[in-house]
Amino acid sequence: MLMRLIKTIDDINVANRKVLVRSDLNVPMQNGKISDTARILRSIPTINALASKGARVIIISHLGRPGGKRTPELSLKPVAEALEIIINRRVVFGKDCIGPDAQKAIDTALTDEVVLLENLRFYNAEEDNDESFADQLAALADIYINDAFSCAHRAHASTEAISRRLPSAAGILMQAELDALSSSLELPAHPLAAIVGGAKISTKMAVLGYLVERVDQLIIGGGMANTFLFAGGYDIGNSLCEVNMADQACKILEKAISEKCEVVLPSDAIVANDFVKGATTKHVSINAIPKTSMILDIGPASIHNLKQRLAVCKTVVWNGPLGAFETEPFDLGTNEVAAEVALLTKAGKLLSVAGGGDTISALKNARVIDDFSYVSAAGGAFLEWLEGRTLPGVAALLQNQ
Ligand code: AMP
Repeated sequence: MLMRLIKTIDDINVANRKVLVRSDLNVPMQNGKISDTARILRSIPTINALASKGARVIIISHLGRPGGKRTPELSLKPVAEALEIIINRRVVFGKDCIGPDAQKAIDTALTDEVVLLENLRFYNAEEDNDESFADQLAALADIYINDAFSCAHRAHASTEAISRRLPSAAGILMQAELDALSSSLELPAHPLAAIVGGAKISTKMAVLGYLVERVDQLIIGGGMANTFLFAGGYDIGNSLCEVNMADQACKILEKAISEKCEVVLPSDAIVANDFVKGATTKHVSINAIPKTSMILDIGPASIHNLKQRLAVCKTVVWNGPLGAFETEPFDLGTNEVAAEVALLTKAGKLLSVAGGGDTISALKNARVIDDFSYVSAAGGAFLEWLEGRTLPGVAALLQNQ
């Protein structure tokens, strides 16, 4: 398994060493205030673990897209203040992420204090994966820990080049992500199902192409199922459909046959003429969609079918909602299937991993976000992993072992 090949913080002696930790502290900000501290909270286990092992912790992160310019609104200073309260330990803020100001912050910090350096993306060199910028980052520390899986799909100086300069290991959050991802697709317990929903097939072609080679059942829902139904000759009325992707949908279906993967499409739907909250809805079979209607959710027969299928699965990977979940009552299909996954997971019968795009909000809406085995907080990185791509941040860690 991937994680067995990568060192963790338990494999490196960090006591009294300067440890540069790449966290993802890219929190949402509104009027200079942090509106959601979830990313800070997820970074805490690694910071605390390193501090308790006697490491001198120096945290680096990006915030927003300053495009290489020093942008006061995108300073990490408010994050340093929030972090200090959360970890109950003094956080020394460095006004720069490299050079004398960074060094000064590190020198000022007492042994049990933590340093947070200014936004990496104030330098274009960060996103350019610039070698001399990485040299300057590396000069600040003895060891590098990557705890930002959510940034691992980008080859940036703080996620890639740095790892070629210092002894490196994965942080606790990175480790948890890689463990969950490996156990769901790399060496999964079978039967393995993937649930892929969401609006458009065009954004998920690579995901479908990769999954079809690996999973036993590919369950397709949401707007993207419409294109498959259209390609299969069904009249889907006014439903969202990418007509120009019909050929690609057929190719996935053909590949599924050769890969012995069963593709599961909805057999019934909840339709409405208007896409508004509380719209008048109708339950119809998939071969009786009225011309004026849109498919906005899977129907009860499809829900029942998915529940039965999941009951005999051992692993499920989920990305994307099964209907237009933001608008009631079109969240019902996603909610019911998510509740079943949660139930089976809690009963120890299913390993469930979800992530990417709108999946987190859909599972939050279904009130099951804490009941899955693992919900990845990484949007883009999770999707790229679902496409079978090598994530540069992970590859760099693998090479540095
Ligand atoms: P994605 O970001 O690709 O996961 O897509 C999520 C979006 O797909 C959500 O905003 C849903 O409202 C939308 N969606 C899911 N099913 C449908 C549908 N049947 N018709 C229209 N939009 C849908």
